[in-house]
Amino acid sequence: MNIVIRQLGDELGPEKILLLRQPQVGLEAIVVVDNVACGPAIGGVRMAPDVTVDEVYRLARAMTFKNAAAGLAHGGGKAGIIADPACPPAQKEALIRTFARMIRTLDDYIPGPDMGLNEACMAWIKDEIGRVVGLPRVVGGIPLDEIGATGFGVAIAAEVAAPAAGIDLHGARVAVQGYGAVGIHAARFLHERGAALVAASDSRGAIHNPSGLDIDALTQHKRGGAPVHAFGGGRPLDRDALVNVECDIWIPAARPDVLTAENISLLKAKLVLQGANIPATDAAERWMHEHGILNIPDFIANAGGVICAAVEYQGGTEQQAFETIAEKVRANTAAVLARVDEEGLPPREAAIQLARARVEEAMGYRRP
Ligand code: NAD
Repeated sequence: MNIVIRQLGDELGPEKILLLRQPQVGLEAIVVVDNVACGPAIGGVRMAPDVTVDEVYRLARAMTFKNAAAGLAHGGGKAGIIADPACPPAQKEALIRTFARMIRTLDDYIPGPDMGLNEACMAWIKDEIGRVVGLPRVVGGIPLDEIGATGFGVAIAAEVAAPAAGIDLHGARVAVQGYGAVGIHAARFLHERGAALVAASDSRGAIHNPSGLDIDALTQHKRGGAPVHAFGGGRPLDRDALVNVECDIWIPAARPDVLTAENISLLKAKLVLQGANIPATDAAERWMHEHGILNIPDFIANAGGVICAAVEYQGGTEQQAFETIAEKVRANTAAVLARVDEEGLPPREAAIQLARARVEEAMGYRRP
């Protein structure tokens, strides 16, 4: 691996780049601790055959900003295990346990789940070193997808952003792209606040009902393994026609880069809440800003998951997780909107400025 550290870093970090190797079990792994001024870094462990130092560094920096923007006393880090996540289960467990033992003394990095790893993998890490987030419930975890931590945060962001976009949440029409862990719960918590889900999509198609879809029935249908377009309570649409649906709030909760320069002008919504990570290209975000569509960026709108993980790490309860998500997402969405208002900045830039200012302030308290 040929790394030029100076090319990776800047004044914020990274603080540590570790290359781990244990030939007996075939472990090769990368850990980047980017910045720990706010507290020990939280960030996922990704398993993929082609993960690189550069990728892990960029993801670690994203966590520095995400955790600071969420108002957590945690810095940013990330790890990558260079392996196929579909390898035999015994080999996967050996790789993860070895990885855990090799980071035992790296106290300023708290691993969590990411691509290729699940709750069970986190339980093995806990068994080895005790320091981890994203655990199964039986060993002290708060299962964030089961309780809908991220979708709940999206609904809280909506409470703050809807009035700013000129929308009354009560009666607002919502479209959700990606009716999965984030999308289903976002729809459910928004419905509790008086909004109607008028359209939803998954990887195979979309469903539309301008008078509102029955969320419980649609969720049951989807969890039974059927695609949303086969649901009887609406009119089926092509998957990518969702962008064109008449609605007030559009929630991407599926893949990166789904809103682009090519399709953004089709969007009818006044508010976009980014449940997915990087769902819009730079050009699409610029277009929204120039055309009066309020766009709440991913690391503000979808921070519920990482906030839940931080509460779990403190030994908190599910109830405390919901309270903390509500308090933090509400305050941070309002802080971003205030900057957008005062300085005319696009929301993502305002959010990055907010996060960077918090990291720099925390760095000011540290011995040089
Ligand atoms: P998931 O796999 O549970 O759900 C994703 C859904 O999107 C599925 O229904 C899938 O069929 C659908 N989908 C895939 N491609 C699509 C496409 N092109 N068009 C429409 N639908 C499509 O995943 P998830 O956990 O809900 O995560 C969704 C997104 O949110 C990801 O970008 C993830 O990184 C991000 N995110 C998730 C969490 C979390 O707590 N789970 C937290 C922060 C961010």
